[in-house]
Amino acid sequence: MDDNDWMARGRCRFEPPATFFPSDGVGVEIAKRICATCPVKGLCLEYALEQRIDHGVWGGTSERQRRRILKKRKLTANPTYVEV
Ligand code: SF4
Repeated sequence: MDDNDWMARGRCRFEPPATFFPSDGVGVEIAKRICATCPVKGLCLEYALEQRIDHGVWGGTSERQRRRILKKRKLTANPTYVEV
């Protein structure tokens, strides 16, 4: 099994790809609702975080939410870290 086999099991495979690259907040919420019932949501989120994907909705998170998660993880790993 390949590390990225989870991609073939995502709920997004039934949706137009553009759904997950919305241009406004309403679109983000629509995509997040689809992700909410996705069986590979956790794997998808970790992939987006590891790959530093900064565009689109992945693992039920917006770009802003992923930035916050990464920032929080950096702070946890290195309490003296200061973002500049
Ligand atoms: S969490 Fe969302 S973007 Fe990720 S695989 Fe599932 S439906 Fe697709």
